[in-house]
Amino acid sequence: MRVAVIGGGMAGLSCALALSRRGADAVVFEAEAQPGGKVKSRSEDGWLSEDGPHFLSRPLDALLEATQLSAEVVRPSGPATRFVHLRGRVLRAPSLRLLFSAGIPRALLEPLLARPPREDTSLREFLVARFGRRAGSLAATLLAAGVYAGDPAQLSAREAFPGLSRTRSILLGALRRRGPGLWSLRRGLGTLAEATAAKLDLRLGAEVKKLAPAGREWDVYVDAKPERFEAAVLAVPSAAAAVLAGEFAPRLVAALRAFSSAPVTVVHLGFRENGLPRGFGMLDADGTLHGIGTLFPSSMLPGRAPEGHALLTAICGGAQHPERAALSDAGLVAAVCGDLQKTLGIRRDPNYLRIVRHPLAIPQYSPGHGARVSAARELLRGLPPVELAGAAYDGVSVPDVVRSGTAAAERLF
Ligand SMILES: Cc1cc2nc3c(=O)[nH]c(=O)nc-3n(C[C@H](O)[C@H](O)[C@H](O)COP(=O)(O)OP(=O)(O)OC[C@H]3O[C@@H](n4cnc5c(N)ncnc54)[C@H](O)[C@@H]3O)c2cc1C
Repeated sequence: MRVAVIGGGMAGLSCALALSRRGADAVVFEAEAQPGGKVKSRSEDGWLSEDGPHFLSRPLDALLEATQLSAEVVRPSGPATRFVHLRGRVLRAPSLRLLFSAGIPRALLEPLLARPPREDTSLREFLVARFGRRAGSLAATLLAAGVYAGDPAQLSAREAFPGLSRTRSILLGALRRRGPGLWSLRRGLGTLAEATAAKLDLRLGAEVKKLAPAGREWDVYVDAKPERFEAAVLAVPSAAAAVLAGEFAPRLVAALRAFSSAPVTVVHLGFRENGLPRGFGMLDADGTLHGIGTLFPSSMLPGRAPEGHALLTAICGGAQHPERAALSDAGLVAAVCGDLQKTLGIRRDPNYLRIVRHPLAIPQYSPGHGARVSAARELLRGLPPVELAGAAYDGVSVPDVVRSGTAAAERLF
């Protein structure tokens, strides 16, 4: 079977790898000059920075083995301190002050009050019902910001955090859970995309402009002359899939436009290290900082900054403040540096700067998401073999999109 996989992010790459393992002839079309989509790393002058994800929270053993990267896995070291910006102050998490500000005494009753959600409610409503207004709102804000750069009142508890709503008591579940922990790769997560891509027939700088049915097959147009394939996989953001679907399924266009994404701009700043805070990073619970979250990559991972320096990475914008992601480069740097001065007392100028813009960074799963995904997939019936894969549909984390791409390959067989 000859399959066109459109999109060379981790969903498309994983899909193509699974197809080739089944003996199919998969060709990946990627618009950009480098594979990986959101998963790219840049190494320059001793700095190593990520375009998107810094850590993965679930194992990807089969992919690491296939790409011979198992020995490159690194885990966060150093103090795991997390800071929370709450009511204008920076608090350590967990700390007694944060617990009391968050209304933790009421939250401790959760195992007694917990009920599975009867309907698809927002993350905020769900957690407030479980933990009380103060602790529930704070938990929802931090979870929505940390995972989706999202709005807790708009995200669906059930669809965006399926594990949460399945757990009888979130508190007891969290106490019991012993997960495999966060991990990354020594030379950056981008090496996972590069190594996967190296195993595939990949066309870079190959934006698919048109996808058109040709009998029971597909014609793929990168330029005027089409290439014929027996099946196609749309592993692109839903907005790009909607543009392609315009050629062959008008109802699918409307279905795909119902999925929304939040924009995010990543601001990497390098500083001389002396006196900088160490830890995992800081989340903004107030919504007043430009960085929804600021990671301290060089405090946790080896090789992220030159000797004597530290790398800080602010994630700006998101569903609640998309305008912040759209600020000019100079405006963003000034705003983030101002926030760092106010919160962490960092007064010096950065001596490394890198800005990465993601206009469609993270899909936002609002109530009804699962039904919308099923409806969109239903509209593929009757067409020549075609699948939808990626962060828009089956989970936004990298392990989720790897699973989504692999599952799309399995469905084609
Ligand atoms: C700032 C940020 C931080 C994140 N942090 C984490 C984290 O810590 N942990 C985690 O697990 N996940 C994280 N994520 C989420 C995760 O990285 C993404 O959800 C995931 O990588 C998306 O993969 P994908 O293959 O579905 O889509 P993408 O990576 O968007 O890939 C789609 C590809 O399709 C290409 N394309 C689009 N249109 C066309 C066309 N017409 N023709 C050809 N190619 C086309 C694009 O160029 C792109 O390369 C983060 C994301 C961002 C933005």
